[in-house]
Amino acid sequence: EAPKKAETEKVLRVGTEPAFAPFEFQKEGSDEFTGFDMDLIRAIGTKLGYKVEISSMGFDALIPALNSGNIDVAIAGMSITDERKKVVVFSDPYYTSGLIVMVKKDDDTIKGFSDLEGKRIAVQIGTTGANKAGEVKNAKVTAFNDNTAAAMELKNGGADAVINDSPVLKYYLQQGGSADAKVVGAVMNSEDYGIAVKKGNDKLAAEINKALAEMKQNGEYDKLYKTWFGE
Ligand code: GLN
Repeated sequence: EAPKKAETEKVLRVGTEPAFAPFEFQKEGSDEFTGFDMDLIRAIGTKLGYKVEISSMGFDALIPALNSGNIDVAIAGMSITDERKKVVVFSDPYYTSGLIVMVKKDDDTIKGFSDLEGKRIAVQIGTTGANKAGEVKNAKVTAFNDNTAAAMELKNGGADAVINDSPVLKYYLQQGGSADAKVVGAVMNSEDYGIAVKKGNDKLAAEINKALAEMKQNGEYDKLYKTWFGE
């Protein structure tokens, strides 16, 4: 009798943009994807019986990759917005975020979003922060591929401000960025992060929601949250 063919392992193809610590990043000298989102999607995938395979791409490439079927899910600190809901399906929210303004440490003129008129603003391409910068009168907005490059532009004097997600900019400051930069003003636009799947793949979204709910209920989610954000 011929040996039975091994059952094919179910693979969950995950896409992310890994310059967004503490949600997704690669530690220096390592290819491994780490961070809150990475732990979360690995736990969800494992719970659902998938082998989780993570690949990296530009933030603005994630939704096209979902729609072309190259990846099954995108997790990248992606805010649930009405515009994105037209093209993808989001899981239930898993983290509440918001936007903030970061300026040079010695800047006394920009105290918040309302002081940005006419300024040079560095943003990350395709993000809610980029949209927010677009609301500023006479600003010169430059979009970079990732948050690290936008922060670098501020440091190098090519921009007066950066707008991006508050937890990410605050983490950047904690990790040494505070030598040159600071955040100013209030956190703007309460935004919820969601895990995105291709439109029509409601089955996968429902599976993800079930796993997420279970993790919130049994303390796994809280444990992960504490690991990455403290109490
Ligand atoms: N939360 C922001 C957005 O969804 C930024 C996400 C990111 O840069 N990874 O646009």
